[in-house]
This record gives sequence, C-alpha cells and structure tokens, in this order.
Amino acid sequence: MTTRYEDIETTLRERGFRMTPQRLAIVRIIAEDVRHPTVDQVFETVHETFPTTSRATVYKTFELLKDIGELLEFEFSEGGNRYDAKRVGPHAHVLCDGCGRMEDLEIDAADGSLVAQANANSSFHVTRQRVEFYGLCAKCQVQESAAAG
Ligand SMILES: [Zn+2]
Ligand SMILES: [Zn+2]
Repeated sequence: MTTRYEDIETTLRERGFRMTPQRLAIVRIIAEDVRHPTVDQVFETVHETFPTTSRATVYKTFELLKDIGELLEFEFSEGGNRYDAKRVGPHAHVLCDGCGRMEDLEIDAADGSLVAQANANSSFHVTRQRVEFYGLCAKCQVQESAAAG
C-alpha cells in the first residue's frame, strides 16, 4: 500500500511537474490532513518548516493538484474554502456548526446515485453533487450541554 502523498508525488513526477521542496511539503500536508483544512491552515503548517513560503505558493500548489484531479475543493462563503486530498472520489461530509469540524461520512447516497437521480428528474445534465449534513460534533455537544446545565 502506498500513501496518498506517495500516489500524488508519483502522478506529479509522471506528468513532468518539477516540484520544489516547499511545494512537496504542501502536498504532504494536504495529503495527510484529515481536517479538510483551509488554505490558511495549510499555510500555517508549512510555514513552521519553510518560513519563506507565501500564501500564493499554497494557492498555486492547490490549483495544480485540482487540475490533475488530486484535490477536492469545497467552496464556503464563511471561513474560506476547504480542501480534501485524502479522498478525491465522491463522498459526503458532516460539518459542525459550532467549531467548523468537517469529516467524511459513509452513506449510500454519496456514491453518485444522487447524480443519476438528478439527471433522471431534471432537464439538466448533472455532473456532480455535493452532500453535506450540519449539526454539532461530539465535542461541541458536550460543551453545549455543559453550558445549558
Ligand atoms: Zn464542533
Ligand atoms: Zn472528505
């Protein structure tokens, strides 16, 4: 078994992209981060090792990964876009209204069957779906009941 980082690195090399150590560090961080981080979160992490890295470098690396299909981008008006490089096939998410935690969710509808239904029931040519559920994570539930009690 290869890691997601190794898979992405192989793809980049095969496609002839020459990556600097700091761009590879960005790839490693996003490939290993289960939080669905924002650009800022990745920027802060890479900055610890490569203090000269700019946000623009993070953005450019993300654009490249998106272009080659190795990174999913989820647009949010509040708090900034979130990214997933661990898993790039269709999948659903749960999001916390309290702290913004975002986790993968295993449900049947996330496998693309909703896209098929949307195509069958509309005049659109539907190509993608985004399935999200909102509520409070376990940690925020505890905090809320502590505040209420
Ligand atoms: Zn939470
Ligand atoms: Zn995900």
